Amino acid sequence: MSGSEEGTILVVVAHPDDECIGAGGTIRRHVDQGVKVDVHCMTGNEERNEEIKAACGILGVRSLYLSERDDFAIGEELFNEVIGAILKSRPAIVITHHSSDYNRNHQQCATIVNQATEWASHKTIFDDAHRVERVYNMEINTMISRPNVHVDITESYAAALAALKKHKSQIKKADSYYTELYDARTRLRGVQAKCKRAEAFTITLPEHAGPFYENNSVDRLI
Ligand SMILES: [Zn+2]
Repeated sequence: MSGSEEGTILVVVAHPDDECIGAGGTIRRHVDQGVKVDVHCMTGNEERNEEIKAACGILGVRSLYLSERDDFAIGEELFNEVIGAILKSRPAIVITHHSSDYNRNHQQCATIVNQATEWASHKTIFDDAHRVERVYNMEINTMISRPNVHVDITESYAAALAALKKHKSQIKKADSYYTELYDARTRLRGVQAKCKRAEAFTITLPEHAGPFYENNSVDRLI
């Protein structure tokens, strides 16, 4: 199995704007530190794809995988698309939605990513199989009740907010709710993480439970 490209993150989201609301500061902070970040978005249209292109330009995203699929068409068939993005980006970690999110598209995205990270690592299926080490689940509207990790985004907040504002159609539709939510939530997470602003995640370890994982064989646990 080929190894992870050193320091690559793949962010998989249901809609244009989720990448900013859930992980904008985290993306920009890692890009500033030399990490390559790719974004795969499951749905979109002409207007919203222009917005996500502008937002990801500000965040410093390397490759952006877009579609013009409708919101209600997120289904299991996207499984193969996410596997394709994983095999192309070869990320060490994937950031995606949280399974406890109230939005069913976000829930489906989280489920598809979990299954895809598992399947993409099967050497018996893919010659270029790739093992993702960890999946980080982010929050959008539904707050995570028990996050495992907070990323300090104090330095990258301004850029992340500027990126979020590129999603003009959504900001307008929701009467600035998203920028206010992002401001308030990152401050609250900052209080909890003892920094000015933060983004919260839970960590999912892919099972990699198939029978061909020599990497799962260890001499000792600590
Ligand atoms: Zn969304």
